[in-house]
This record gives sequence, C-alpha cells and structure tokens, in this order.
Amino acid sequence: DERLILQFQITLYGDDERLLMARDITRLHRLEEMRRDFVANVSHELRTPLTVLTGYLETYHDLVEGLPPRLVRGLSRMQEQTTRMQNLVNDLLLLSRLEIDQGGDDHAPLAMDTLLESVRRDAEALSAGRQRITVEVEETRRLIGSEQEIRSAISNLAFNAVRYTPEGCRVTLRWRPHPQGACLEVEDDGDGIDPVHLPRLTERFYRVDKGRSAASGGTGLGLAIVKHVLLRHDARLEIDSRPGHGALFRCVFPAARLAAPAAVAPASPR
Ligand code: ADP
Repeated sequence: DERLILQFQITLYGDDERLLMARDITRLHRLEEMRRDFVANVSHELRTPLTVLTGYLETYHDLVEGLPPRLVRGLSRMQEQTTRMQNLVNDLLLLSRLEIDQGGDDHAPLAMDTLLESVRRDAEALSAGRQRITVEVEETRRLIGSEQEIRSAISNLAFNAVRYTPEGCRVTLRWRPHPQGACLEVEDDGDGIDPVHLPRLTERFYRVDKGRSAASGGTGLGLAIVKHVLLRHDARLEIDSRPGHGALFRCVFPAARLAAPAAVAPASPR
C-alpha cells in the first residue's frame, strides 16, 4: 500500500495556455521522513549518556578542594560543555517533535500577561541586569495555543534579545492587536541585523556571527524552533531590523486563533 506523493506545477503562458507538470516526489518525501526520524532517535539516545556525565561531573564538583588548579579548570570546562551539549540535544529533540507530530492536543486559551511576565523573569535572570526588560499588554483577547510551545517561542526570542544586545539596551515583550488578529512582539534597541541575513535567519544553525553566537550560549536552533511553533499556530514571523536600529521580531496570529478575555469573577458584595 505504497503512497504516491506528487507535486504539481502550473505555468501560465499568455491568456489561454497552461502547462501542467507533475513530479513524483515519493522518494524525496521518504528520505525527508528518514532524516527527521534519525535526528529524533539520535537526540533521544544521546540524552542518557549526557545525564550520566552531568551526574558524575556534579559529584566531582564537590570534591575539588585541594586538587591542582589545572584539574579544577578542566572540570569546570567539562561541565560547561556538557551543559551546552544538553541544550543542543534538547533543542534538536524539540525541533524533531515539532516537525513529526501534528500537535494541537494541548491547545487552550492562554493568559498572555501571565505568560509574558513569566518569560520576562527568565530573561531577566539571563540578563543579570545588563538590559532593561519590560512587558506591554494592549490586547485583552487570549491566544489559543500550546502553552509549552508558545512559551518556548517567546523565550527563544527574548533570550536572543538579551544575548545579542549590549549592556544598557531595552527589550520589550508585547502582546497587541493587529489588523489580522493579534501579534506577539519582541523588540530590542541593540545593534540590529544586516538585511542580507534576514531571509536565512530561521534556518537551523544559521548565524550572523559564528564566534559570537557560539559564545552566547545559543544552540543555533532558536529561530528554527520559533518558525515551527508559529507554523503549528497558523501564524507567521516578520523580522524587521536595520543595523544600528535594533531588531523587531513579530509573530502575527490570525483572529481565528483568539479567544475572548477570561471572565473576571464578580466582586463579592459587601
Ligand atoms: P543562536 O542564537 O543559538 O545562534 P538563533 O536561531 O536563535 O540561534 O538565532 C540565529 C542568529 O540570529 C543568531 O546567531 C544571531 O546572530 C541573530 N540574532 C537573533 N536575534 C537577534 C537579535 N535580537 N539581535 C541581533 N541578532 C540576532
């Protein structure tokens, strides 16, 4: 019961001529599925050994007293690198899950003010006072979506804004109305991104500045995750940035994705 997957292309010539082309992409599709499954399996298999490694490193961390400084430095480098590997494996796993299953099972109306506030606190911990991070909520309707996925999308955007802006910058997390529905924005007034990079920014492991990004603690998968989360919520990502003028990442959600504000419990009579 082999499924056949065809891709059609219609080309118009003048007013009344059409060219229809059909291409059999069954094999290509199968290969793509194999690639996804492979990445998911490898990431999954890497988790256990990494957990064991981290466990040992944590134990040794408590026993370093009196050891030669070179060994202590080595241990702490090993700890840093295993954490980095764990983040990478977790992001790869998340990305494959987003690609493989349809999602939608856990969709519910989300209180965006609470969600943004909670992401703000996490971003503030990462920023450690280097940036000023604020939340603006101008839209009362709630977004219907997966809390876990939406949180991971906003976090990735907010953490990027913290990682790639210099000290003293401002970062704003915003939920506001949009002509097509509502939008979630993460804006910073940092150095911005050269427009030549914008079309490729959401590709896996695409980085503007290799060295700086690797040192920043990112995995190179952040914006790819954002893109997939948005696809699953019928939303699109717009990136607006100019060098020297900061960056604005806007996620536009259609009206069909919005729910009325949560009912406020009536004040109890005195
Ligand atoms: P990572 O941050 O792990 O490298 P991402 O996919 O999250 O991967 O981001 C891709 C690249 O986009 C980053 O390496 C960085 O160069 C650039 N970038 C993302 N957000 C910003 C921002 N707010 N300001 C400037 N550059 C950014």
